[in-house]
Amino acid sequence: MTQPVFRFAPSPNGPLHLGHAYSAMLNHDMAADAGARFLLRIEDIDTGRSQPEFERAIFHDLAWLGLDWEEPVRRQSEHFDDYRSALDALIDEELAYPAFMSRGEARAFVAEAEQDGAPWPRDPDGAPHAPPLDRERSSSERRQRMADGEPYAWRLDMAAALSRSGGKLDWLESGAGPDGEAGAVPTDPARWGDVVIARKDVPTSYHLSVVIDDALQGITHVVRGRDLFHATSVHRLLQELLGFAPPAYHHHRLLLDETGRKLSKSKGDGGLSALRLAGATPADVRRMVGL
Ligand code: GLU
Repeated sequence: MTQPVFRFAPSPNGPLHLGHAYSAMLNHDMAADAGARFLLRIEDIDTGRSQPEFERAIFHDLAWLGLDWEEPVRRQSEHFDDYRSALDALIDEELAYPAFMSRGEARAFVAEAEQDGAPWPRDPDGAPHAPPLDRERSSSERRQRMADGEPYAWRLDMAAALSRSGGKLDWLESGAGPDGEAGAVPTDPARWGDVVIARKDVPTSYHLSVVIDDALQGITHVVRGRDLFHATSVHRLLQELLGFAPPAYHHHRLLLDETGRKLSKSKGDGGLSALRLAGATPADVRRMVGL
């Protein structure tokens, strides 16, 4: 039997907080229990928000917590070629199209559509589905806009992707979804509409690179927060389209602040380094996150 492989995949765009500590320690514990390899992956495709000092702080905080991981660490920004070739394959198969609309144009389109009464469909994170305009453009218009140097992202043509993948997909869940979903969970990627698979500035998006890296690194078990539970539907579909075997998933509870909101880097919630400086030990952190 091959050895299982787990991974923790933080984005270096802020200091790690208790929620990350919980995710990383649970991951590491589960890997140890399974006799698995444990990898750390730096998810830094957002080249504007990712900073080397946050990456250094991630290594420092995780080592302080007592975690160890295999070297070298995969850094997504060094593998844009891998994402580009998968993206090209999806484009060649006419499963992706260039999307020129700006956020403002899309927002205006949705507001106008909603004036007629019916609410515009939203994805599980609450964002409106992409308007159909970009999907419906002719190839000559696309070529012209590209030749004019207009910026564009790439979106998955969800209807085409669903008919290509054929049949219902599911994934194996050993944690739980927001409504207690567990076991063989049926996917519902259509809830996301035509998701972005490559952003305007880089040849990938979170969804595409996470699926490619999990496959290239031979990840067998993905342990991550419940906020990514519904995104797994998109990941499972992309795995099918790209010919990758799916890992098993474990979505864990989220740590909430005193007002019941999910902890967040952007809100500056309880950084691990601040706790360390205040004299907390890794054992204290374990207790604080309920491990
Ligand atoms: N990089 C993502 C984050 O920091 C995690 C991705 C994943 O575990 O699939 O939220």
